[in-house]
Amino acid sequence: MGVTEPVRCDLCGGSHHDLMFAGPDRLFGKGGSFPLVRCQDCGLRFIVPRPAPEDLDRYYPQEDYDLYNKAAGLKDRSMDELERLLGPRRDRIGVYKQAGRLLDIGFGDGSFLYFMKQGGWDVAGVDFNEKMVELVRNDLGIDARAGQLEDARFDDGAFDVVTLWGVLEHVQSPRRTLAEIARITAEQALLVIYTQNAAAPEARLLGRDWFIYELPRHLYSFTATNLARLLAASDFCVSETIYETPLYYCQMNWQYFKESRLGRKNDVVHSPALADRLAVKGLSLYRKLINGSKWSSAMTVYAVKRQNPVG
Ligand SMILES: [Zn+2]
Repeated sequence: MGVTEPVRCDLCGGSHHDLMFAGPDRLFGKGGSFPLVRCQDCGLRFIVPRPAPEDLDRYYPQEDYDLYNKAAGLKDRSMDELERLLGPRRDRIGVYKQAGRLLDIGFGDGSFLYFMKQGGWDVAGVDFNEKMVELVRNDLGIDARAGQLEDARFDDGAFDVVTLWGVLEHVQSPRRTLAEIARITAEQALLVIYTQNAAAPEARLLGRDWFIYELPRHLYSFTATNLARLLAASDFCVSETIYETPLYYCQMNWQYFKESRLGRKNDVVHSPALADRLAVKGLSLYRKLINGSKWSSAMTVYAVKRQNPVG
């Protein structure tokens, strides 16, 4: 890969980090081994060397029919169903902003954009999957742009709300992405980031078997402290952090644990054995007990842009 200079931490610029472990692509099994390190100065976890975007392409499913069909079928889905799935997100955003222009970065199947548009929001999206961008633009009539956020060239101060649902951990430089978000948002804009919580005890307990490291697609794993510092550097101030662990994480954690420590392999999500059901039930009970606490494995951070940027 020809890396000559030490890789600097995207958060603090430090060049000293400790190797945690090197792991394979466990979700799709596409080969390779990816060293995960922790910055000695700020504790940010990231992959070194970071795969280039063109190399990363092959680690994402190229033909994601599931995603495509979901987006294509959006207009036929009942609003009740979307309300149940996405209503809580809209309601939480509504505490800060009730209307305006909203950008969803990495919109996936486009359901959140579609749902918010139906609710009267003026929406736009950016995603690197060109096929999905085309579909969302043509079928749903949404301003969807292809590529990285920086490629989309939105106007200064264009948005009142920006959302990233499970996206920031995938970008090459979160610092650069947040700087661009700062440029394209209005004063007091709301920024919503859903990501994993690397400070969860499960991360330490499971180590390389913690599903959420998701190598090599997750280039970064954040703690709330990491995120708050990154956000502050881009003139955003954390207003609240909501913690929870999705059931899917329990299923995948159990699957990886079983694979590597008990040497047994099967799809826990789609074809669980009785022992799997029991194990996941137990893990889910723990999940519910710690729900809302900093011990949970995922977090949604709500941050508000400062009125008078300092830099
Ligand atoms: Zn650092």
